[in-house]
Amino acid sequence: KDKLAEADRTHQPMFSFEYYVPKTAQGMQNLYDRIDKMHAFGPQFIDITWNAGGRLSNLTCDMVNVAQSVYGLETCMHLTCTGMPKEKIDNALKEAYKAGCQNILALRGDPPREKEKWEAVSGGFHYAKDLVKHIRSTYGDYFDIGVAGYPEGCEDQDDPDLLLEHLKEKVDAGASFIITQMFYDVDIFLDWVKKCRAIGITVPIIPGIMPIQTYAAFMRRAQWTRCRIPPRWLEMLEPVKSDDVAVRDIGKDLVVEMCQKILDSGILYLHFYTMNLAQATRMILQGLDLLPSVGVVTPSLPWRQSLGLNR
Ligand code: FAD
Repeated sequence: KDKLAEADRTHQPMFSFEYYVPKTAQGMQNLYDRIDKMHAFGPQFIDITWNAGGRLSNLTCDMVNVAQSVYGLETCMHLTCTGMPKEKIDNALKEAYKAGCQNILALRGDPPREKEKWEAVSGGFHYAKDLVKHIRSTYGDYFDIGVAGYPEGCEDQDDPDLLLEHLKEKVDAGASFIITQMFYDVDIFLDWVKKCRAIGITVPIIPGIMPIQTYAAFMRRAQWTRCRIPPRWLEMLEPVKSDDVAVRDIGKDLVVEMCQKILDSGILYLHFYTMNLAQATRMILQGLDLLPSVGVVTPSLPWRQSLGLNR
């Protein structure tokens, strides 16, 4: 919350990175390497996702601990309440607290892969707002709590007005910021922000930015999140779809243009869904002139050594 306020106060744009938890030990090692490399880009905070149902939840807690207490990166831990007994949620919050993590993104969660529909666990929580209330009642103001926002609707709710009402309930329950689902049509996002403000949502809204890595992934993710692709984007990307380098290059220009419009509107925070990859995000930051100059950022050697990397 303080960092978001600082960006507003100084008119200095800030950005953050999201990483998901890999499934293998080798994947973890690679990701630590990547986080280390991307630390030099200057994110104000990083997010670590939570697997629905708490699968690999110990890895999320480990990563939060390493990033926060060893590496000194401001970290936001995602926490879902899908299929999660209350003790597991409480344990995760305790771990985050012990690691010095002060930010939680409170979510209901996607249904686990083997299940099609989301189900509440008996004695557990139903909606993200219940989790927000629980965190506030247990920890007071210790944690800054973020919640998810959906400028183009979400899988189980097509009614945009109802979704906005539910978003407001999460904020009223104690959330202090919102991170949005990815989008490619910046006008839809900016209109939606106006609607949020019109119903009295005043907390910072951080747009979720998905870099374009390959054409297939771009199309798949847009379909999966049901976000509208502006026709011009398709006209530019479709002809080069089998050339990954060209897709990434043109995609970078399009996403830079979108981010610039967001920054020009006065929203000074960008949250990158990195998909655990560095290059596409780096290219966008470079295009926006937001990368620190070479030599300004010190390498994160102590962190690497404590993990046995880079000896
Ligand atoms: P909620 O806000 O609880 O909403 C869920 C549904 O319930 C919506 O349809 C809403 O309209 C409805 N609803 C809410 N309140 C009420 C009410 N009072 N009465 C009736 N209906 C109501 N998933 C993961 O598993 N792990 C992650 O780490 C993760 N990170 C994410 C990060 C971001 C930025 C975003 C945007 C999504 C993320 N997700 C993640 C996906 C998210 O968990 C799913 O989209 C999930 O289906 C909804 O979660 P929510 O927190 O938005 O739920």
